[in-house]
Amino acid sequence: MNKRTFLKLFGTILASPAVVRLLAWAGPEKLRNWAGNIEYSTDRVETAISLAQVEGYVKSQTKLKALGTRHCFNNIADSKDSFLSLKPMDQVISLDPAKRTVTVGAGMTYGKLSPILDAQGFALHNLASLPHISVAGACSTATHGSGEKNGNLATAASGLELVTANGEVLNLSRDHDPETFNGTVVGLGALGIITKVTLDIQPTFMMRQYVYEDLPFSELKDHFDAIEASGYSVSLFTDWQKHRVNEVWIKSRMEAGRAFQAMPDFFGAKLATRNLHPIKELSAENCTEQMGVPGPWYERLPHFRMGFTPSAGKELQSEYFVPRQHAIEAILAVERLHEQVGPALLITEIRTIAADRLWMSPCYEQDCVTIHFTWRPDWPAVRPLLPIIEKELAPFNARPHWGKLFTISPLQLKRIYKKMPDFVALSNRYDPKGKFRNEFLNRNIFADHAA
Ligand SMILES: Cc1cc2nc3c(=O)[nH]c(=O)nc-3n(C[C@H](O)[C@H](O)[C@H](O)COP(=O)(O)OP(=O)(O)OC[C@H]3O[C@@H](n4cnc5c(N)ncnc54)[C@H](O)[C@@H]3O)c2cc1C
Repeated sequence: MNKRTFLKLFGTILASPAVVRLLAWAGPEKLRNWAGNIEYSTDRVETAISLAQVEGYVKSQTKLKALGTRHCFNNIADSKDSFLSLKPMDQVISLDPAKRTVTVGAGMTYGKLSPILDAQGFALHNLASLPHISVAGACSTATHGSGEKNGNLATAASGLELVTANGEVLNLSRDHDPETFNGTVVGLGALGIITKVTLDIQPTFMMRQYVYEDLPFSELKDHFDAIEASGYSVSLFTDWQKHRVNEVWIKSRMEAGRAFQAMPDFFGAKLATRNLHPIKELSAENCTEQMGVPGPWYERLPHFRMGFTPSAGKELQSEYFVPRQHAIEAILAVERLHEQVGPALLITEIRTIAADRLWMSPCYEQDCVTIHFTWRPDWPAVRPLLPIIEKELAPFNARPHWGKLFTISPLQLKRIYKKMPDFVALSNRYDPKGKFRNEFLNRNIFADHAA
């Protein structure tokens, strides 16, 4: 029996309102994250299927951590003690067409939610590159898609149900508790167990996706704003070689006046004549449809198709958020490292994201450009590159993705997150004894403030 079957089976069997105690994972292999680079420090995974079970379990434990779909590349989700999985709590709880909101259980994934919403005539504003991740886990780490007018996925959250360390159930909303809410949504798993999330929705929409090949960096430098404004969501893929962006992915909405008019030439890049994978040499079979074929939002916003899990265990990832006004300087700074970065890199993706008000979001009060690295699964080769890249990006106060690999010091994090003291204070209120803290959080967030 694999882990997935194990969790599903027990999630189904254990419908009692009492605290759920599952057997520790007893398979021969250790419990790992999606990429396989992190072996979690415990195999003890408990599964809850109701709010009552979450409350009971939280009260009964001195230390625990919520576990989502395990897609983070660092040990932000790790625990030495026990995990609580809300995987079976993956239902749509309510959909309010008038208020344009949907409320889902915290175990819901975007892959499951999106077709349900679409069938009801609704859409989310954006999705990440793959749909397989949990809504609660994605919001907790400020996961994002692309589009200069689109906030990260957590900005769609307008309400949360949260079980705090003493088992108290809080219902927070953007309208009624704006400050606390802004502090809680990107909570890094440090504030409690999220059991429900309410998300903004909008009328469903159709999209087209076009890909262009070989955009010279000289054109990018001169026309960055026009390139980023060309679609609802724009992604630039580069291997940093030959002074060019290998592929430009333009995802455009089809409403009147907004659709992208595909020309054969786009700032020196050529319109692709077949579907492409972000790494051109790989088959595009598992990528979302391109070549301008119309399709629903949830089959165009991600790069990878819903029914397919891309390259499990065959990559590592890092990503840095830079204030939008420094986009070109930051991109050129990384390009200067092309010889060092090249051998360990599979591909880089450059995206833009709109500013938000979420305290621990890397886009807090700043529009951002993100420079993402999909690495070969070779940590000894990747590890020394991270401080080199981080040094180049330090003048721009680059912030790392909370769920990806980085070496930026805790001191620097404190310097660049001006709401960190408020976040620590909020955490001390919800979790005074550090029940939800782990090594990652103690090091990066709580080191100077720990009791
Ligand atoms: C192939 C791949 C592609 C990716 N693409 C993107 C991308 O396009 N954009 C992007 O920004 N990121 C991307 N990521 C990163 C990833 O989406 C995020 O790191 C996200 O957090 C993963 O969600 P998860 O449910 O797997 O979280 P996990 O790794 O399981 O947990 C992450 C954190 O969330 C907390 N958490 C989870 N559930 C709860 C809950 N119910 N209550 C409280 N806290 C909770 C955990 O405690 C932990 O701190 C990608 C990752 C992979 C593997």
